[in-house]
Amino acid sequence: MTIKRILIVSGTHGNEINPIWAVKQLNREENSLSHGVEYEYIIGNPVAYEKGCRYIDVDLNRSFKEIENYDQHSNNFYETNRANFLVDEFGIDGSKPCQIAIDLHTTTANMGTSIVLYGRRFKDFCLAALLQNKFGLPIYLHEKDNAQTGFLVEAWPCGLVIEIGAVAQNFYDSNIINRFLIILRSLREEIDKLKKNLIELPKELVVHVHQGSIDYPRDEKGNIDGLIHPQRINQDWKLIKRGDPLFLDSQGLIHEYGGDELVWPVFIGEVAYKEKKIAMSYTKKEVIFSNNQWVYEFESL
Ligand SMILES: [Zn+2]
Repeated sequence: MTIKRILIVSGTHGNEINPIWAVKQLNREENSLSHGVEYEYIIGNPVAYEKGCRYIDVDLNRSFKEIENYDQHSNNFYETNRANFLVDEFGIDGSKPCQIAIDLHTTTANMGTSIVLYGRRFKDFCLAALLQNKFGLPIYLHEKDNAQTGFLVEAWPCGLVIEIGAVAQNFYDSNIINRFLIILRSLREEIDKLKKNLIELPKELVVHVHQGSIDYPRDEKGNIDGLIHPQRINQDWKLIKRGDPLFLDSQGLIHEYGGDELVWPVFIGEVAYKEKKIAMSYTKKEVIFSNNQWVYEFESL
C-alpha cells in the first residue's frame, strides 16, 4: 500500500464546531505520523468558522465541481476559491498530495454516528466496510442526485464523510466530541492494519441508498407550514410505509407519506437543509456483498 498522506477536514461547515475541537484534542495527544502515514488536519472553512456561520457565499461542500460546471459568478465566491486552494494543496496532484480525505460533519438530526458515501467507489467501500464492521454504523450512500453535487470527498481518489448528531449548530457537546475521537482513532488503527495486510473484510456492506428528498408543506406565500410530525421527529433510519405521518400543519392537518415503496428517512428536520428545501431525505436499504477487489483497489491508492 502506497498511502502516504491522509487529509482530515473539520469545519467544512463553519458552524459545525465539535469535530474542530476533536481534531485539536487528537492533534495534541497523537503524533501526526503513524506507521509511515502522515495525517494532515485542516479547517475546511476557517472564515465561516470564525464568524460562526455555515458558509460565507455558498456551501463549501457543494463547491468541488469540475471547472466547466461552475456558474459564471462563482469565481468571486470565497468557497469556490477555498475549494480550489484545498485541491491545489492537498489534492492528489497537489503540493502535499493526500490519497484519502475524511470530512467531519455534524447534523441537527438524530442520525447518531453515520458514514456518508458519494457514489460506489470500491476504495470507499473498503474503508466504510471496516468501520461498519467495527461499530455497526449506518451508511448513507448518496448518488444520482443532480441537485446535490460538488462534495469535498469526491475530489479525492478515496474519501468519506463522518456525520454525527444530533447536536445544535455552534454548540459544543462533549459526547459528540468523544464519538469523533473514537472514530478517528479507529480509522488510524484500521489503516495501520491495512498497511500490514492484517485486514479481513466483512462479508457484506449494508447501505441506505439515497432516493430523493422532500420539502416541508408550504403556504400560498411559500413559507413553511408544517412541523415534523411528533411520530416522525428523531426517527431517522426507521422504516416508513404509505400512510405514516410526516408533518403536522398549522391547521392541525396530518400530511402522510404517500409512496408505495418502503423507505428509511434520514436528515429529518436538519436545520441547514431548510434553505435547500429539504425536510428529510428518503433512502432504500441495500446489501452489497464485499469483494476482494475493494482491498486491491484500496491498496493500489
Ligand atoms: Zn456539515
